[in-house]
Amino acid sequence: ILPQYLEPRSYTVQYIEKTFPLSRANREMLQKAEYDIQVWCILLDDKVPFRMHWPLHSDMQINGIPVRVVSRQATQPLGANGRDDGLMLTQFLKEGPNKIVLSRSDSRAFCLGVRIAKRRSLEEVLNLVPKEQDGEKFDDALSRVRRCVGGGTEADNADSDSDIEVVADSVSVNLRCPMTGSRIKVAGRFKPCVHMGCFDLEAFVELNQRSRKWQCPICLKNYSLENLIIDPYFNRITSLIKSCGDDISEIDVKPDGSWRAKGGAELKDLMQWHLPDGTLCMSTGTGPKPNMGVVK
Ligand SMILES: [Zn+2]
Ligand SMILES: [Zn+2]
Repeated sequence: ILPQYLEPRSYTVQYIEKTFPLSRANREMLQKAEYDIQVWCILLDDKVPFRMHWPLHSDMQINGIPVRVVSRQATQPLGANGRDDGLMLTQFLKEGPNKIVLSRSDSRAFCLGVRIAKRRSLEEVLNLVPKEQDGEKFDDALSRVRRCVGGGTEADNADSDSDIEVVADSVSVNLRCPMTGSRIKVAGRFKPCVHMGCFDLEAFVELNQRSRKWQCPICLKNYSLENLIIDPYFNRITSLIKSCGDDISEIDVKPDGSWRAKGGAELKDLMQWHLPDGTLCMSTGTGPKPNMGVVK
């Protein structure tokens, strides 16, 4: 007789059965197109945060109706880049008690729930991102840029920016979005990231509809929507060069955070050195005083 612990795990099936009530008010709410009831599941202590994760061999029944909760193979573990989804249950539910049964063959600890979910439009999600001045202080963004451009001593920094290139006393920074290849319009970033690279906020949120992950495209760390902000340093620059052609996508940045655009003659004063706040640097020569106003 084999000891219990040698029994192959794939033959151990565990069941969970729960009943939850659906009120008339909730049922009526679910008639609206943007509302749905969703069943979700997470793996406790999942190495990848902020994702759904169903057990191996998940089999679910809602009020006796078999439903498919995972699209991957029953025996296929969820990889680091994989994302499971939460099935929408509305069509299977009735007013009053509803029974949900999940069987699995997976000894890890999971947490299962149902929730009323509201579908948000791209615009609504973008509106959840704090306004530029509320996401991060300009000085904090500037410190990061100064550290990234000037602090060449941190050789062990695994999050170093691969898109910067050292040239003499300034570095060249590419303002193209790593996801779209177009110049960034609104500079988005995840607040905890230590690198200075940004991405196009709107394109990123739009692509998230398919990827279902709030993953930084630069350092690949996983976050939640709450961490998404506008980078006040780079957004000031991308706003100033907004009207330039898309071929203008690189700037030089000095360790103090001053910058100038590289490229075409159409840029005029944008090719002069600017202070981090976007104003032109004072000329050290004897020529006429440069305009200190915000460059349009
Ligand atoms: Zn950096
Ligand atoms: Zn990052």
